[in-house]
Amino acid sequence: MLTADKQELLDRIKADIIKNNICPDLAQQATQLVFGEGNPDADIVFIGEAPGKNEDEQGQPFVGAAGKFLNEMLAGIGLARQDVYITNIVKYRPPDNRDPLPDEKMAFLPYLRRQLEVIKPKLVVTLGRHSMGSLLPGLQISRVHGQPKRYHGQVYLPLFHPAAALYNGGLRQTLIDDFERIPKILAAIN
Ligand code: URA
Repeated sequence: MLTADKQELLDRIKADIIKNNICPDLAQQATQLVFGEGNPDADIVFIGEAPGKNEDEQGQPFVGAAGKFLNEMLAGIGLARQDVYITNIVKYRPPDNRDPLPDEKMAFLPYLRRQLEVIKPKLVVTLGRHSMGSLLPGLQISRVHGQPKRYHGQVYLPLFHPAAALYNGGLRQTLIDDFERIPKILAAIN
């Protein structure tokens, strides 16, 4: 499929979230929907938890401190943000940055699945336990981080969340080490 056609389909999914009034309470308190951005033809899709303050203000995922760290790790493996696609499981900022609720993750899951169906990435990288738990049920991030998992024909790589790793030296290095495995994992899929 042409990249432009994929972008049009992604735009339609975004419009459907608004039309179907998903999580109206979150929507009302948020500045805007943070749908996701990047290359609709990307080999890798990164999925975080939910927009924070900066993301809510700018309408883009991972543009705050965690996003800066993510950009650095991408650069470390020779990738720019435009090469990949970045989104979240929950697409409105939860009030006071609280954890997304199970109902909220469930409400957005069909739209995340549609995004993945359009992009058809080779590798889905989940950042943190919320996106991992929505797509790969029953796993514990402390046990499976950095290990590729094939599930229903899709390869996933569960990673720690960059925000959790930002201020924890040990976790930070673990995340960087796991992240650096991405090129090899991708090559093994090809
Ligand atoms: N944390 C997330 O999980 N997602 C963002 O977009 C930003 C920070």
